[in-house]
Amino acid sequence: MMRAAAWWRPLENGQVACDLCPVECRLREGQTGPCATRSNHQGTMVPLHYGRIVSAAVDPVEKKPLYHFFPGRPILSVAAPGCNLHCMFCQNWNISQDGGARTEKTSPAELVAMARAEHSVGIAFTYSEPLVWFEFVKDTAEAFRAQGLKNVLVTNGYLKPAPLAELLPLIDAANVDLKSMDDLFYRKICKARLDPVLAAIRQFHAAGVHLEITNLLIPGHNDQDAQIAALVDFVADLGSDIPLHFSAYHPAWKLNAPPTPLATLLRARDLAGKKLKYVYLGNAKTAEGRDTVCPDCGTVVIERSGYRGVDKRRDQGRCPGCPARIPVVAA
Ligand code: SF4
Repeated sequence: MMRAAAWWRPLENGQVACDLCPVECRLREGQTGPCATRSNHQGTMVPLHYGRIVSAAVDPVEKKPLYHFFPGRPILSVAAPGCNLHCMFCQNWNISQDGGARTEKTSPAELVAMARAEHSVGIAFTYSEPLVWFEFVKDTAEAFRAQGLKNVLVTNGYLKPAPLAELLPLIDAANVDLKSMDDLFYRKICKARLDPVLAAIRQFHAAGVHLEITNLLIPGHNDQDAQIAALVDFVADLGSDIPLHFSAYHPAWKLNAPPTPLATLLRARDLAGKKLKYVYLGNAKTAEGRDTVCPDCGTVVIERSGYRGVDKRRDQGRCPGCPARIPVVAA
């Protein structure tokens, strides 16, 4: 028997209303939401990918990217097909935008066993959009939490506040993709809205989840100084300790803008560095912007080569060069 989804309501004439994400779908019998993860099956909303994975790998936690969370540790990383955003530049479009991608069966217990065998710090729900895989993410996160393992979300942050509040007590860390501070960018390029993403980021932070933010810089779309400054201001208002990752774009799916020049990444880092203590560069052929550097004395605190991090902090997480305490979650 198919299990029912969470966060939906029956309507008249066999229709259902989805209360999971801000798209607020009303689905007729047999219809699937644009996220490709939830369907109206005979008047009941069902999750299409419960217990199914399209991708599983053991990655360095730095690859999520999380630079201030168990540096140097591996993390089991899994995904199901689907996403509630439809970003023209999606770098993982082959799984996020294809609800029919081939999947394999799994279970929370099987994933816990895999994580244990790989000495993983826990599990990362990543690659596509985990928030619309809600039921399986929640059940799996409960199983990992019960075993003392960590739960990580790599997400677009596009969920309604009530279901997010249900999930957050189980989540240890998140990297939220903040694509732009321009609502028009979200509407035109991602088929979504900005405000729910900002609200979700505030909610992650208020819940005490370890939070890092990623911004993919796309030439001609979100890479002007004023656009970068607005995003930096938003993060700095939450906390100057929050790590911000600027990531380089490469042409993918429906967008064919030129790849992000290194100069743009360096300019963004310089702008952000005026207000934020930890700014990183990713997805680019440069060693710049990888290390964690003490904001007080400039000593390298976590040295990274590729995605591998070597944590040089001394007692109680202090900088090796001065008494500053560097905010990193680690055992
Ligand atoms: S989760 Fe999917 S079905 Fe539900 S409102 Fe969002 S896009 Fe629609």
